[in-house]
Amino acid sequence: MKYTIQSRNDELSNRLMDEAIDYLNGFGLVYNEDEPDVVLSIGGDGTLLHAFHKYSHRLKETAFVGIHTGHLGFYADWKPSEIEKLVISIARKEFDVIEYPLLDVAINYRSNKESSHYLALNESSVKSPEVTLVMDVELNGNHFERFRGDGLCMSTPSGSTAYSKALGGALVHPSLPSMQLTEMASINNRVFRTVGSPLILPAHHKCVLKPVKGPDFMVTVDHLQLLHKDVKSIEYIVSKEKVRFARFRPFPFWRRVRDSFIESNGRNISG
Ligand code: NAP
Repeated sequence: MKYTIQSRNDELSNRLMDEAIDYLNGFGLVYNEDEPDVVLSIGGDGTLLHAFHKYSHRLKETAFVGIHTGHLGFYADWKPSEIEKLVISIARKEFDVIEYPLLDVAINYRSNKESSHYLALNESSVKSPEVTLVMDVELNGNHFERFRGDGLCMSTPSGSTAYSKALGGALVHPSLPSMQLTEMASINNRVFRTVGSPLILPAHHKCVLKPVKGPDFMVTVDHLQLLHKDVKSIEYIVSKEKVRFARFRPFPFWRRVRDSFIESNGRNISG
């Protein structure tokens, strides 16, 4: 089996990386950065986002595992003290693979420039660089609303615990193939009106954002942030592709939610 490691590059993460390489090579696994079967991410959820984007071209062949060297994460849910157990399980292939939905993002331009395509593990958000964002929101080809405000965010179920949560979105179980649209500070008064609630859309729905004002927009895809010029529309669908996580023991989503946001049950790096 081939593996690679993505480290957050701090002292603890790098030390654990060296330890993991020693163990895994000792078990006859081969370090291969180009075509890994397993990607070990050591750091936080942010580190796993970087690993995901590095290997998003070969999701069918790759399973991700996250070890946290800070607080408990959603993607990084193994403790450093468990590294030996984890490595033995990887070597013996004693793991299940679970799949989470992803978001497909297409940005179309008014010019003849080819559309840009991205996959998001957490979310994609749209903001206007200078002025209030004004976008028509279209659902399945029908006009839904004209949004005025700071921005819009479309999240995956596993991204619902990240930026989307801070925007008042619901927490969505990753077994539901769906995407969630949340507003950022919408202008709502007698003249301008938006629905004001997050929308959870199923896998067969499509959401298209069409600029009313200003052709240039800041579009984020997870940790990536790019200014797109001359935008005609931004299309969101639930991707046909999925991300695969290697699961070595049950750690239910709602337990992770509780441990992260309510009470940690001692599941910190020393516990
Ligand atoms: P960052 O600013 O360094 O990290 C943002 C925080 O989001 C980190 O604490 C990270 O956890 C956490 N996070 C990432 N994915 C998560 C998930 N699925 N569930 C719960 N928490 C999660 O940025 P970054 O490391 O480049 O990550 C980019 C992500 O930051 C974006 O995808 C977005 O979701 C998030 N973000 C959140 C806000 C907000 O909450 N107001 C604003 C902007 C962006 P770790 O510490 O474990 O890495």
